[in-house]
Amino acid sequence: MSAQGRQDTPALPNEPGSALRAWQKQPTSHPLTQMNRDPTEYDCTQCGACCRSFPIFASEADAVREPSIRQEARLLAEHLQAEDKAYQLFPLPFQTRCPYLKDDELCRIYASRPSVCRRFEAGSAQCIEARRRQGIEAS
Ligand code: SF4
Ligand code: SF4
Repeated sequence: MSAQGRQDTPALPNEPGSALRAWQKQPTSHPLTQMNRDPTEYDCTQCGACCRSFPIFASEADAVREPSIRQEARLLAEHLQAEDKAYQLFPLPFQTRCPYLKDDELCRIYASRPSVCRRFEAGSAQCIEARRRQGIEAS
């Protein structure tokens, strides 16, 4: 969970604890994502609540991009798999956070994180719910 940052992963500006800052400025087509608040109210680099609050699934394509997913995540039974869902990174309630979330609330595999993490937006309803569950107010 608290592994060191990958030396071969290019550093990104404002690397957030979850994946989201780089995606804030992009339009989303994710049907579950609804912008409720100004994302600038949220500082992902001090948060990581979404990486501790929800089950996180990765696809086979995600595992090709980030092969360590095959070791870190649980392979779903075949009848539970879908195109966007082959591994579960965060098998609640057995873990309390994504295995890639470091103690400094940054993502160890930010550059190659799963697609679901790339789509998640700061300020979305899910973001607000994650922060509520973790007792974190908007910054
Ligand atoms: S891989 Fe884990 S730590 Fe990284 S953004 Fe996704 S949920 Fe957060
Ligand atoms: S819960 Fe929201 S503010 Fe916190 S890291 Fe996730 S997207 Fe960013």
